[in-house]
Amino acid sequence: QIGKPGAGPFSLTGQPNAMGGREVGGLSNLLPAHRDLANEGHRNEVEKFWRVPLGTIQPKAGLTATEMFEALNEGKLKAIWILCTNPLISLPDVRMAEEGLKKAKFVVVQEVSNRPETLKYADVVLPAASWIEKEGTMTNAERRISYLNKVVEPPGEALADAAIICRFAMKMGYRGFDYPGFADIYAEHCALTAGTRIDISGLSYALLKQHGSVQWPYQKQSDLLTEKKRGTVRLFTDKKFYTSSQKAIIHSFPDINESETPDKLYPLVLTTGRVRDQWHTMSKTGKVNKLKQHTSESFLEIHPEDALQRNIKENELVEVFNNRGNVRVKAKYSIDIKRGVVFLPMHWGKILNSDLNRANNLTSKSIDPISKEPDFKFSAVQVHPYRKKKQTIIVIGAGAGACGFVKSYRALNADDDIIVFSKENLPFYNRVLLPDYISGALPWDSLVKMTEAEEKEYRIRLWPGISIENIDREKKLVTDNKGQMHHYDVLIIATGSRAAMLRDVPTLKGIFTMRSRKDADDFKNHLNAENGNVVIVGGGLLGIELAASLREINVQVTIIQRISRLMDRQLDPLGSQLLHGELIDKGVNIYYNDEIERFLGEQQVTGIRLKSGLLIDCQAIVVAIGTVPNIELAKNCGIEYKRGVIVDEYLQTNDPAIFAIGEIAEFKGFLYGITAAAEQQAEIVARYLNGDISKYYQGSLLMNILKMQGTDLCSLGLAVCPDDPGYEEIVFIDKAKRNYKKCIIYNDKLVGAILIGDKSEFLEFRDLIQNKMELSDKRLQLLRSGKKAQPVIGRLICSCSNVGEGNIINKINEGCKDLVQLCQISGAGMGCGSCRPEVKAILEANTKIFKSDATMAEL
Ligand SMILES: Cc1cc2nc3c(=O)[nH]c(=O)nc-3n(C[C@H](O)[C@H](O)[C@H](O)COP(=O)(O)OP(=O)(O)OC[C@H]3O[C@@H](n4cnc5c(N)ncnc54)[C@H](O)[C@@H]3O)c2cc1C
Repeated sequence: QIGKPGAGPFSLTGQPNAMGGREVGGLSNLLPAHRDLANEGHRNEVEKFWRVPLGTIQPKAGLTATEMFEALNEGKLKAIWILCTNPLISLPDVRMAEEGLKKAKFVVVQEVSNRPETLKYADVVLPAASWIEKEGTMTNAERRISYLNKVVEPPGEALADAAIICRFAMKMGYRGFDYPGFADIYAEHCALTAGTRIDISGLSYALLKQHGSVQWPYQKQSDLLTEKKRGTVRLFTDKKFYTSSQKAIIHSFPDINESETPDKLYPLVLTTGRVRDQWHTMSKTGKVNKLKQHTSESFLEIHPEDALQRNIKENELVEVFNNRGNVRVKAKYSIDIKRGVVFLPMHWGKILNSDLNRANNLTSKSIDPISKEPDFKFSAVQVHPYRKKKQTIIVIGAGAGACGFVKSYRALNADDDIIVFSKENLPFYNRVLLPDYISGALPWDSLVKMTEAEEKEYRIRLWPGISIENIDREKKLVTDNKGQMHHYDVLIIATGSRAAMLRDVPTLKGIFTMRSRKDADDFKNHLNAENGNVVIVGGGLLGIELAASLREINVQVTIIQRISRLMDRQLDPLGSQLLHGELIDKGVNIYYNDEIERFLGEQQVTGIRLKSGLLIDCQAIVVAIGTVPNIELAKNCGIEYKRGVIVDEYLQTNDPAIFAIGEIAEFKGFLYGITAAAEQQAEIVARYLNGDISKYYQGSLLMNILKMQGTDLCSLGLAVCPDDPGYEEIVFIDKAKRNYKKCIIYNDKLVGAILIGDKSEFLEFRDLIQNKMELSDKRLQLLRSGKKAQPVIGRLICSCSNVGEGNIINKINEGCKDLVQLCQISGAGMGCGSCRPEVKAILEANTKIFKSDATMAEL
């Protein structure tokens, strides 16, 4: 077929620039223009061209890439200079290669990216320019050479690879590297091809710029011939080929496997390759978050029959292994793959310090004798489900973090013992809804997150009313408030926070904080709508929600705010001003820039005097000024802490058997006071304890949704635009109607948003910020999409996203039978998550099928 229109070679190579590398003699056994190092005539041609004495070029080939790393391992090679490749992901048998790099005496890494793991081993890093930051040519599989312009200047000290090499050679005292420019390097390469089969001696940067691209060969006279201006469109039209007989030779392969032979021990063939949206080792594509949305983690593609034979369930963690190493990823059933063959993508390298997602731990070093390509497509392996040792897990606290942990853990592991100790004598419940419980809008049952029957289903042992008082890390024992000791293999501290209190508060009846059901019950029992005003100290989210709930039952409310505006950490000044208007409309009194100076009353609080001198009568005071993490247990047993318990990306403390999640966890100097963070952290720990290292904690998006009847208000990420020209603001405002939308953008990513009056974009913005998605064209659409919020149908279920019971039922009737999907498409349960049990109940009532909500943290 070669030589006919419509036919051409189909290159199966996958290495970056494999074709270009060969053309310029980039392999250790090659000279420029497909010349062979072993061929004396070829060596002499190059020697003459370079005007060096014949015999200067040694016939002995250097080491191939794989051999170099072997030689490093054996101490035969001492120094290595790595450029344009990322060997600690891309080499076969890569654990061996890594050992070699560890032993190297001197490592130079020339790189465009800060991601490759080789950088960790580099004695010298040479920052290189990427393709867009330098000029050059690119040849594709139809022999087409294109000129690539430099589009932007390289950052910092980065230089084009060729410039680095020339500078180095000149410093070393070599002649002939003082090229005036890159065009001159290319001119030399073109001249060196004269008379060869890839003759481009007629080509230059100037010609390429003029014609755009040409196909080689392009001899000296080509530019004179009109029809040849674009080079040689088709080769071999005369059916004369580059063989000694000029006839095409079809190489037949004996039907024997020259790769590793699968056997009883390793019966499956592993093939490796790429996924759609990633290129090679992701050193560049891995920086584009949009591309990660397609496939965010590694996986093993396996035929369902092979999987069933091994008791492997879809999405279950499996171990792929042979005598070179192992990989641990989730199994993905596919009938696109043959029985007996499994596929691993090659993109993933080390994740934090673990190489368990690195496909090349398993591939063999054998190479093709001609191309020197490693045998990436055929390694013998075995696969089995990953099974961890049975463990006893003790969780201290039964709040949002603990509940998330139990659900995530049970979705992955049915065997381990989970024991939960709770200081509160109650089942798992949702403290976020306490303001609605106080106003009577919700009965207690609606706050319960896990019924006794569900506790049994989840196979946990919950000890309500039993607190843990001491941790003995050496013996792995915890002691409860009754003096009983309990052994753990893994301990999860999820003790949350307590409410912060004002200083010097007298012991008067009627002064409350709001963290638990007991606080809510005590307050409810005390409250009498007839008895007048309730003072709330603190104009944050909790204080405002409580104020709004109290107004629902006609209790007079006054908020005292120490500074000049409301929700100052979650809103900008304009947002606070609009919120002020909403609260005033609801009849809430607000005093700014003031504090309580004195509590009035004898046994029972009857009023307060503010620093400004103002006297306010009240029947009760609720202090909502923030929280204090309950870290005493951790502190007393020597676990590292600052404001919270210090944790790493797997929420592990400095004791590998102890993890901390929720409001007590301090990650990179940050404590997160939101349910979503506690649940995300819980899921990471659950996965990690079950052997999955692929997802790790990178912090949570701070999102705040005010739950206040008739008012839509939320904020995500940054609320105030930093004073830096890199940040942009997009604002829509209709002050009279209290409609305000603001987006903050940095580096083509949405980093913050405020939505007041209509929060239809909440989910979209949350995903954009959370996934750090590049906006590109979407930037222009951000506040112009004209999206209309769906009207609430029936009883309001989700006050974060304004979703009614009817909206949810409609989605179920349209065919959605899966809880996670139902939340995603209806929007319910996607904010604080409090309404998920209700969404689940609606789903169950309207269908008989539902999927466990164990993976809800993924939302
Ligand atoms: C009224 C209110 C409204 C809120 N609104 C929102 C909202 O709208 N959105 C949002 O995202 N977040 C909101 N939050 C915050 C959210 O509730 C918390 O971020 C979340 O509950 C933290 O979960 P956690 O597991 O860390 O701690 P918690 O849920 O506080 O649970 C910790 C549990 O551990 C127990 N404990 C402590 N010490 C011990 C011990 N030694 N032994 C045994 N048990 C112990 C505590 O008694 C408590 O039950 C709100 C909180 C309150 C109080």
